[in-house]
Amino acid sequence: MFEHHRAPAPDPILRVMQEFAEDPRPDKVDLGVGVYRTADGRTPVMRAVKAAERRVLETQQTKGYVALAGDPAFHAALGGLVLGQAVAPDRLAALATPGGTGAVRQAFELIRTAKPDATVWTSAPTWPNHGAILDTLGMPRRSYRYYSPDTSELDRDGLFQDLASVGAGDVVLLHGCCHNPTGADLSLADWQAIGRTLSQRGVLPMVDLAYQGFATGIETDVAGLRLLCSMVPEVLVTVSASKTFGLYRDRVGLLLAICGTPGAARAVQGSLAWINRQSYAFPPDHGARVVTEILSDADLRADWEAELMGMRYRIRAMRHALADALRRETNTDRFDWLRAQNGLFSRLPATADQVEALRREHAIYMVGDGRINLAGLTPDTADRTARAIASALS
Ligand code: PMP
Repeated sequence: MFEHHRAPAPDPILRVMQEFAEDPRPDKVDLGVGVYRTADGRTPVMRAVKAAERRVLETQQTKGYVALAGDPAFHAALGGLVLGQAVAPDRLAALATPGGTGAVRQAFELIRTAKPDATVWTSAPTWPNHGAILDTLGMPRRSYRYYSPDTSELDRDGLFQDLASVGAGDVVLLHGCCHNPTGADLSLADWQAIGRTLSQRGVLPMVDLAYQGFATGIETDVAGLRLLCSMVPEVLVTVSASKTFGLYRDRVGLLLAICGTPGAARAVQGSLAWINRQSYAFPPDHGARVVTEILSDADLRADWEAELMGMRYRIRAMRHALADALRRETNTDRFDWLRAQNGLFSRLPATADQVEALRREHAIYMVGDGRINLAGLTPDTADRTARAIASALS
């Protein structure tokens, strides 16, 4: 069977990781992989996670199965963090999943079950796995304009022109905050206008939320999503706890399906449990339990919020340090758009050759499309990185 088997092309980010690891230059800078890093290059276990894990270790009496859709207490805890009071609980169906990727996959499976010919519209550009999963499932997809490489800002006119041509029953996939790979986010006014357009056209919004708390605040980062939920009867939300709780390898994710009526929510809940059942049966529970523990305990929650705030401030400080240094190096405001963007990522207007030159000549590593992870910078490396970018992109 596998004699003539051909492996798919490796993920380009894995190649960047490998080349970085093999580079002997001591001053190399990794702006590639999309994880949070401290100033000394670590991706730490958060304090509240450690404390919650200790509690689980001491109090857990069984490793017996939980439920196909996961623990309802987890749905309520993480769902509450995301939606607040925006949606009546009886209109919600929820599914615990292995990470945000699992939630995206199961959301697409649900769409396919409900309407096999629905086209899923993704932003240009988007997180590459959106397209990869849709293609694997054989689902129709198209993209809408979102970001202008010429201005390095949101392409608002293009976005609204394209949304106006999406057909009834199709799905528009949005990023909740900290757009990956551009960092260019929607304003509240944009969310409102999108809500109006999608509800008029009968389009289902799906919101992928992988960085709550990384932009401007835990609550403010979901204000747009909550506004949308108040305007549109049905919304799918996919949540990743990988960054927000630093639980990457424990695989914690949640799919929320907001339905028009309690009856629809009950039917969708049944479908979701079945979708988990025929994929892997029960979702992982350990990380989900840790998240539930943190969000349900006032002290743990306060400590988690404080640590997350520190992470957010560090990312923003590095963003500003790079923008300041680029101003000095270029004597222009050419890179000032960096300041307006959110989260770990921005995208340099660099060609593949320029990205390669940054790696070869300056030991600065990033994804081939010019995406940089600001958390890969430190106060010591920001200036040198800006000098290299200014010279490679001159
Ligand atoms: N969606 C987006 C937009 C992401 O950037 C990521 C993480 N790279 C995910 C989903 C999935 O994250 P995970 O599966 O690691 O929780």
